[in-house]
Amino acid sequence: MSILIKGGRVINPATQMEEEADVLIEEDKVVEMKKNIEEKADRVLDASGCYVMPGFIDMHVHFRDPGFEQKEDIYTGMEAAAHGGYTTVLTMPNTKPVVDNPDVVNYVHNKAKAGNCIHVLQVGAVTKGQMGKELADIKGMVEAGIPAISEDGKSVMNAEVYREGMLEAAKYHIPVLAHCEDINMVHGGVMNADAKAKELGMPGITNSVEDVIIARDIVLSKDTGAQLHLCHCSTKDSVEMVRIAKEEGLHVSAEVCPHHFTLTSDDITEYVPQIEAGILIPKETDADTNYKMNPPLRTKEDVEALKEGLRDNIMDVISTDHAPHTFDDKNTSMKKAPFGIVGLETAACLTYSELVLGGYLTPMQMAEKMSYNPAKIVGIDKGDIQPGKKADIVIFDPKETYTIDKNKFASKGRNTPFHGRKVTGRVKCTICDGNVVFNEIKNKTK
Ligand SMILES: [Zn+2]
Repeated sequence: MSILIKGGRVINPATQMEEEADVLIEEDKVVEMKKNIEEKADRVLDASGCYVMPGFIDMHVHFRDPGFEQKEDIYTGMEAAAHGGYTTVLTMPNTKPVVDNPDVVNYVHNKAKAGNCIHVLQVGAVTKGQMGKELADIKGMVEAGIPAISEDGKSVMNAEVYREGMLEAAKYHIPVLAHCEDINMVHGGVMNADAKAKELGMPGITNSVEDVIIARDIVLSKDTGAQLHLCHCSTKDSVEMVRIAKEEGLHVSAEVCPHHFTLTSDDITEYVPQIEAGILIPKETDADTNYKMNPPLRTKEDVEALKEGLRDNIMDVISTDHAPHTFDDKNTSMKKAPFGIVGLETAACLTYSELVLGGYLTPMQMAEKMSYNPAKIVGIDKGDIQPGKKADIVIFDPKETYTIDKNKFASKGRNTPFHGRKVTGRVKCTICDGNVVFNEIKNKTK
């Protein structure tokens, strides 16, 4: 099977190449890349006007499998990822059971392989059952192929236990993906602690809840030599701390999620009644719970700092924190609803609309933060389009303008605050290991 991608603009951070070129794929690899390839391929994809970028790599998703398959399972998660232009995702371990031993790692990897769609790399928990007390079987999970460890969903609050986990990570040369939240300071907070929270009568989450753990984890990374990757940074001071850590030459990287650079807590709206299957769904709530995520949407000042941090390459990665929930899970009050929104199918268009068209990122930087940098941090040979490399590619149309429709998501989750938002930039085709796993490009008829 051969595929020829014709007439696109190849944007490849690994070689800093940005020019028009055709890409020829044979079996699972890129074999040729130059202008006007005349080869007859089994399939020709017309990419004129589009960017041809390395397939996106999401360092932070929740596929809810095993244990919460009503929210998402590995198959629907992979499908959503393919729709979003992703060819590799790292799934977080806060499932049921928690991924704290090689058996659960193997379960996820085997199921993903059977689904034959995109690459799924399961992250291992730091502690047994994510209880924060005793280290998980990190050695066993490394042998089963985990790319990283993380306690995502919470922080390991005992600094000594976390330090021991980091020493293990350093020993096996895998990064620690850190969810930073001092749970003792949360006090039932559901959104950012600011004027908007007061107006809505909601308990707030201060920036310091996140910032104190970021500071602690940077110190622990320095102490242990572990490679630290800070998840879903949302505060102004997180950018400042990452800047200082990098200036000190520490092994620290950081990610930002599209919702944190697109929305502020002022965007949180009152609940709008919804009709599901012809029936008006009554709701006891106060605000739209699709704006509830952890860390919460912050202020304008924080958003500006995050965008500048991404622009200045202090912040390395854009990840989604894709966190699907059922309609019923979210159809309750702000206080009761679970944290989290889906993100795989809206990340690329939001990044392009807000950051590239907004003048913060070049298309090259977009490819770096959504593919090349994650590959480097995780240490996988991906995020690079060149002859000889595996063909993981996304074709992205930077001109197409459309309205986000949650009902068209491949994910089981419809929990997004972006339904109805007008955006520019659309994923047209996703190729993983030389297989077309998502395609909207029409075949040319002669
Ligand atoms: Zn998290």
